[in-house]
Amino acid sequence: MKFADRIRSLLGMSVITDDDWDALADLLVEGDLGAAFADAAVTELRAACRDAGVRDGQGARSMLKRVLMPWARGVDIRPLPGGLNVVMLLGVNGVGKTTTAAKLASRWLADGSAHGAILAAGDTFRAAAIDQLRHHGDRLGLRVVAQERGSDPGAVLFDALDAAAADGADLVLADTAGRMHTKQNLILELEKMDKIVAAKADRSRYRRLLVLDATTGQNALRQAEAFSEAVAVDGIVLTKYDSSAKGGIALSVARNLGLPTAFLCDGERYQDLRPFEPSRYLDEFLGLGS
Ligand code: GDP
Repeated sequence: MKFADRIRSLLGMSVITDDDWDALADLLVEGDLGAAFADAAVTELRAACRDAGVRDGQGARSMLKRVLMPWARGVDIRPLPGGLNVVMLLGVNGVGKTTTAAKLASRWLADGSAHGAILAAGDTFRAAAIDQLRHHGDRLGLRVVAQERGSDPGAVLFDALDAAAADGADLVLADTAGRMHTKQNLILELEKMDKIVAAKADRSRYRRLLVLDATTGQNALRQAEAFSEAVAVDGIVLTKYDSSAKGGIALSVARNLGLPTAFLCDGERYQDLRPFEPSRYLDEFLGLGS
């Protein structure tokens, strides 16, 4: 059962009992808030409901939205006009980086935020990743810059930036290798990437998005911890939101690491990507609204 349905059935129309509050804390843990956050949220919610005289479940769910709102943090990420934009997709294998790169290219070309895009096959460890990016490039009619498996990702990025200049493209979307590096390796590799980008593009047009799979729960929080300790992450893309029964991980990542969410992906089609809207997200999470 979806998290929203479970919370709706726990906090229905009737008067809330002490047992309900305990059950709510447990449910929020299952919704990926983590124990400390769940307890703090319920304590704050109980006080807020008491002060406002709210005693029914529906009222409590609306109040919970207010309690959680500070942690539903969005960030607007889109290409800026007037120069070359570089967006790097970070994250472990299988979270949806390649698919997200293609979705972003498709979205930004369709809405006019970008006028030409290049896909850079920076995951040089897996031949399948290069093939997959090529497949998306074919479908979207985009140039894919790739080298053979095992080559230097920095060199691929360098070539992609040159290709963008040659083609007059204003957007490079770079896939990266998803294996969990040691932190030191990751820092060194990304510093190298940063230098390559800095030589050809403005820092304000360079964004690093961390892709997290919503179905992996608190594991996603640990990945976010590891990556954000190593590099400055500009925003999260939460994928497989359609397959996740819960989806509270965006709140957890904001509260624990201060990272905002840029996009939610709720399917495998190119159009299944939308900017993170805090109020709508909480309505979906808590089963509010229609
Ligand atoms: P990568 O290894 O991080 O590049 O991950 P991929 O982009 O190859 O995605 C791994 C799998 O997840 C593929 O089968 C994608 O089609 C699928 N996928 C990616 N994003 C979503 C999403 O938002 N929803 C669903 N249901 N599947 C997704």
